[in-house]
Amino acid sequence: MNLFETVKNNVSLREAAQAYGLEVNRHGKALCPFHNDRHPSLYVANDHYYCFTCGEHGDVIDFTARLFDLKPYDAAMKLVIDFHLDPDKPPSAAALNAKRIRTEAQKLKENERLCFSVLSDYYRCLEEWKAYYAPQTPDEPVHDLFVEACHKLSQIEYELNILTFGDSYERREIVQDWMTDGEIIALKERLEQLRKEETYGRIEYPNGYAA
Ligand SMILES: [Zn+2]
Repeated sequence: MNLFETVKNNVSLREAAQAYGLEVNRHGKALCPFHNDRHPSLYVANDHYYCFTCGEHGDVIDFTARLFDLKPYDAAMKLVIDFHLDPDKPPSAAALNAKRIRTEAQKLKENERLCFSVLSDYYRCLEEWKAYYAPQTPDEPVHDLFVEACHKLSQIEYELNILTFGDSYERREIVQDWMTDGEIIALKERLEQLRKEETYGRIEYPNGYAA
């Protein structure tokens, strides 16, 4: 058996798709990672996939190649490594490893949820700061939180948009950025701290309505 056959015989497409983070529903469909899919339009069978919207299709190797932007040979090698395919090992090793990859995919999803929740919170804070700390006269010293709001609002809005509508690569990139050096945790703690200190909150807007 050549490499491609070995891979195709040992890793089902559905197993790989799930291991790489797709949620396949009971109709065998998932959100297509190859276009900005809002409703599951990717049909995932054990030996092939087909997207009813963008027309992407192929087998487990095509899928992996497209998902990770690899050449077919490299995609097959990735599957060999990720699923610990080895002719000398019993097939259960592959299953075991699929479980490990699934755990990683879950972790990725959890991180994505964490980023989305903290960034949504941050976005609300920035909007409040921008309104609340806006200098009322040209001579007034400019508040740090107002400056931060002006600098960060559009970036955070953009990132929230990607996390909502982006494909899996785009989302992963943002999540990875924020997870590096625990940046997202630091932001979460900072927002909690600010709230505790009531640096902002109980906002009364100059024109009279309360937030
Ligand atoms: Zn598609």
